[in-house]
Amino acid sequence: TGGAAGAPGAVLPLRPELAGLEPYGAPQLDVPVLLNVNENPYAPSEQVVADVAAAVAQAARGLNRYPDRDFADLRADLAAYLLAESGVALTPAQVWAANGSNEIMLHVLQAFGGPGRTALSFAPTYSMYPEYARDTSTRWVVGRRAEDFTLDPEHARATIAEHAPSVVLLASPNNPTGTALPAATVRAVLDAAARVPGGCVVVVDEAYGEFRRAGTPSALELLAEHPHLAVSRTMSKAFGLAGARVGYLAAAPALVDALRVVRLPYHLSAVTQAVARAALAHAPELMAQVGSLRDERDALVAWLRGRGFEAADSDANFVLFGRFDDRDAVWQGLLDRGVLVRVTGPEGWLRVSVGTPAETAAFTDALVEVTGR
Ligand code: PMP
Repeated sequence: TGGAAGAPGAVLPLRPELAGLEPYGAPQLDVPVLLNVNENPYAPSEQVVADVAAAVAQAARGLNRYPDRDFADLRADLAAYLLAESGVALTPAQVWAANGSNEIMLHVLQAFGGPGRTALSFAPTYSMYPEYARDTSTRWVVGRRAEDFTLDPEHARATIAEHAPSVVLLASPNNPTGTALPAATVRAVLDAAARVPGGCVVVVDEAYGEFRRAGTPSALELLAEHPHLAVSRTMSKAFGLAGARVGYLAAAPALVDALRVVRLPYHLSAVTQAVARAALAHAPELMAQVGSLRDERDALVAWLRGRGFEAADSDANFVLFGRFDDRDAVWQGLLDRGVLVRVTGPEGWLRVSVGTPAETAAFTDALVEVTGR
């Protein structure tokens, strides 16, 4: 609707379910302390910058050609990285990559969702999930997490049995709560999914997997026994490469082959592949930085609790904290002091990303001022 009355072509045949919708995304504001989208606060080191630049220059020399459609070298590098990070050995045929794990998940829904099918998750969880479902005309169903954000395996089992989804999305560590699922819960979901007539793919979204605490397992360990499991990861968080847009997935070769059918040809540019491989070569030093972010995260949770705030357990690089009678007022108060956090999650809670020590100090100082605690 809209446009000049009678102007030819003024009516756009927008899908009715998109009418009036705004594009997804947190406000991109220009403030000194950005702690709202769970980025890594550390820019790439000069050594990483130099190696990325050299790799891009090399790729540029071949930009008249389409890139390797199947990005064999990148898949081999990602498999080697996952072996080093989680101790799980995978072949390149078990690895897939795309422009962010957002696109990974879209591929999953394109291949395994669709009209007449259902995708299921447990709220509160990542707010893009219903959008992947909407964009692939997949019915969207949410079960619930408990008050402490855990997922009751019995509830998960019953919800899967009731709705017979073809895709279950489980974020672990979960966004926005930061909480990870115990292996027993993931196994319960996998068992229930295996009983769905017609089959059901379970995606464990480990976008924040590298930040998990000691003793929290990765679902990668369950891949060998579960051909309907896919574990999604990203270079946006631990690698500090959000701007490069590289997400990836590990699964059985047959599952990966289904994603290859729905991807656009050459979806991963030669530049993207080159950047990702150059950064992966620096994995050991980048993982050391992840270790210090984990320590900062634990210190922030302890500080919040020590001040009488609630803070959810976090296996991620952010903390859900509260609760506030008027969270919007607290958000605004922090913003007035140059600190941007995110209004997300259940009523009363806010989410803050773990920044540098100086950024975290700016956040805690501002929070004390705003709340008087
Ligand atoms: N999954 C979760 C749980 C996330 O929080 C995010 C980013 N906020 C993503 C996936 C997508 O990240 P990207 O597309 O940058 O890989």
